[in-house]
Amino acid sequence: MAEPTPAYAWMNGKVIPWAECVLHGRTAGAFMGSNVFEGVRAYWNAAHEELFVFRHEEHLQRLGRSLKTMRLEVPYTVRQIGQGALDLLRANGFREDVHFIPVAYFGMGAHHFNALGPTVDNGVYITAVPWPQPAALWNGVAACVASWRRISDDTVPPRLKAGANYQNSRLAQTEARVDGYDTAIILNARGTVAEGPGACLMMVRDGRLVTPPVTAGILESITRTTLMELAARELGLPVVEREIDRTELYVADEVFMCGSGLEVLPITSVDRLPVGDGARGAVTRRIQDVYFAAARGELPGYRGWLTPVYAAVREPAPARSA
Ligand code: PMP
Repeated sequence: MAEPTPAYAWMNGKVIPWAECVLHGRTAGAFMGSNVFEGVRAYWNAAHEELFVFRHEEHLQRLGRSLKTMRLEVPYTVRQIGQGALDLLRANGFREDVHFIPVAYFGMGAHHFNALGPTVDNGVYITAVPWPQPAALWNGVAACVASWRRISDDTVPPRLKAGANYQNSRLAQTEARVDGYDTAIILNARGTVAEGPGACLMMVRDGRLVTPPVTAGILESITRTTLMELAARELGLPVVEREIDRTELYVADEVFMCGSGLEVLPITSVDRLPVGDGARGAVTRRIQDVYFAAARGELPGYRGWLTPVYAAVREPAPARSA
């Protein structure tokens, strides 16, 4: 059964009814997944009656890098796209946690409808949906190491956030599900750990937080850098970026995935071997605590990471001097 939908979406400069956010099936964006996008969260802070977009600026910057790498030209600046997202969140009047995706797409092939050549009518759309936090955040999930290898920078670069990259993610995620796991850990072409289908990976070994470098075949995750900063500054944890071998996952004290959508997700087993004592680890819990506090606007010193959605319209315009 279809879920109830929000009232509005945003497409090519306008807030529109949700059902009108459509792309022609013959566009490169629709049939080849030729697009770049962002996945962003906004957190509801009940005490302040405010919705805070978490690290909006960093997501817009990454969208800009993805557009540049794909040489995708759309008639909107990333700043206009960012404003469009805020307009959409306001139009829907969300008073709960939300996830939204701005998608910039290649349009119709300009010659003989050839989608691999130049395209016309490239554009942008944004959808936002309520996305409550799942119990898996506290209970953890079972992961396998996928038989599929991660895409790499010399073929389909994972550094840019393109829709078509997620074919690789889907193959790994589906394999995991069919085999009875919740998620997959994907190795890169070298055979070391890259990331999950939609999140980066971190482990705790001997009191250090360890995560693969950005050259390991991963998306340059905003949550990853956020956690590295919070772990070092707020928890005093040494943070190490280095290659991770598969068997290190079996002997790690703690393993978790991190991403804007998945947040900080404990991995409680890998290939059916328990991680640590097989439950959410103590360090993972402390990292979750500071992450959620920062994202919800409850941790002093990190308000610069938040963009309030409603404050701008609530505050009266400053009086003009005569
Ligand atoms: N890797 C992949 C493949 C992802 O899809 C995501 C989610 N966007 C991440 C990592 C995490 O990135 P971020 O923290 O910027 O959301």
